Amino acid sequence: MNILIASSEAVPFAKTGGLADVAGSLYNELRKMGHDVYLVLPLYKRIKKNFNLKESGIDINIPVGEKTLSGRFLIYNNNCVFIECDELFDRDELYGTPQGDYNDNSVRFIFFSRSVLELCKKAGFRPDIIHCNDWQTGLIPFYLKTIYKSEVFFNNTATLLTIHNIGYQGLFPASDMTKLGVGWEYFNPDGIEFYGRINFLKAGIISADIINTVSKTYAEEILNEESGFGLEGILRTRKQRIFGIINGIDYDEWNPAKDNFLPAKYSYKDTRGKSVCKKELIKKVFSNNVQESEKKPLLGIVGRLSSQKGMDLVIKAAPKMLSSGVRLVILGKGDEYIHRELLEMQKKYSDNVSLTLGFNDQLAHNIYAGVDFFLMPSKYEPCGLGQMIAMRYGTVPIARATGGLVDTIDDYDPLNYSGTGFLFHEYSHYAFLNAIKTAFCVYDDSRKMKNLISNVMKIDFSWKNSAEKYINIYKHAIKIKEI
Ligand code: ADP
Repeated sequence: MNILIASSEAVPFAKTGGLADVAGSLYNELRKMGHDVYLVLPLYKRIKKNFNLKESGIDINIPVGEKTLSGRFLIYNNNCVFIECDELFDRDELYGTPQGDYNDNSVRFIFFSRSVLELCKKAGFRPDIIHCNDWQTGLIPFYLKTIYKSEVFFNNTATLLTIHNIGYQGLFPASDMTKLGVGWEYFNPDGIEFYGRINFLKAGIISADIINTVSKTYAEEILNEESGFGLEGILRTRKQRIFGIINGIDYDEWNPAKDNFLPAKYSYKDTRGKSVCKKELIKKVFSNNVQESEKKPLLGIVGRLSSQKGMDLVIKAAPKMLSSGVRLVILGKGDEYIHRELLEMQKKYSDNVSLTLGFNDQLAHNIYAGVDFFLMPSKYEPCGLGQMIAMRYGTVPIARATGGLVDTIDDYDPLNYSGTGFLFHEYSHYAFLNAIKTAFCVYDDSRKMKNLISNVMKIDFSWKNSAEKYINIYKHAIKIKEI
């Protein structure tokens, strides 16, 4: 199958969150299966700096409003293609800074989406499927149904839109319609208009042949008012075309038996290295009482710091959660107001909280391996990779029962000693603390804890199953398009 994955981020090139893991791993897995796959990304500053790219000899001119923007394509390892347009992408961040989004994001991703289609034409690559991801590529299916509608070249190209997080929709002022390259007739409630603004994700939802989200539970949740962020109505009209496929994790990147970032390696057969990782992590991020806290539960958080991730519950739960010497290691980057609140919490509990604000792969690996429990009290969580990575490293998740967290964690049953983590339902710090208390009881019983660690490490979260499911929905999209 000829597959083109269009994404605004992908591991190992550029990453702000789970989308990058998914795009990068799925690309690898599909190639291993023997498909002809291309991965297309914008050429950000960090990619230019870190990768040795080859010229493709293909360049383009795209009209965006009154301007014509020029770009060219660069290639890495034959099948990863980057669209260069320094005016738009040669920046330190992908979408914006903690102070807010870049104010030309509409232009950046109009350009990117049209470039992907122009690339296919110029390179003579006819994809059977274009796999679009989130709002940044939502315009691709829309353009195929509008500007490129009568292009014979794309007659046999179907589209899939994966919604990784419906909370991010790409909303822009109506005046940006002049930049889109289509007429005002599309600016209506059945089209791409959304409460007076343009919605790029909606453009993808109304136009893609198939839509999926990253877990079965989230695929159901987004059809409801509480989780649909205003798009539940339009999604319900396309319900037959919506699927849920849980993400996998990259087993080469996330493997405690081979992880060179760790001070000691380990596997479910011999978990002794995990205690070494805990000890070294405590030494690294706390300066005092190292030996004492080795015996206590160590908690960890790695993630984007947005309101979605439930940091308000962590802050409210802190006094009780951190009593009796329990420690918490946080690594994250995100909204400025959450940075501020966490800094305040750290000041207040300086002996018990280590806070690193920033993006740090190495520290992330060391936290997944070194802590006993991984906290994900998310308000909502489309799939969540953190809990799966944590489990792969023998770290037990304590999480809210929402979205993909429900599909990947079995709540611990103290009567049968079964389960793979600790879930709570109500979005409150009381419910969160109850789950933490149950987790600490299990921790105090070393036999039960050992059992739990080895159980979570044996779960298969590899990409293989999910990649096969993607092939099935690609085929379905192609069939639906033909009808
Ligand atoms: P989301 O996609 O909502 O950001 P996920 O749990 O699906 O959350 O994926 C987050 C991914 O990004 C994980 O691989 C996690 O390890 C990584 N990550 C998030 N924040 C950081 C950070 N500050 N430093 C290093 N890795 C991070």
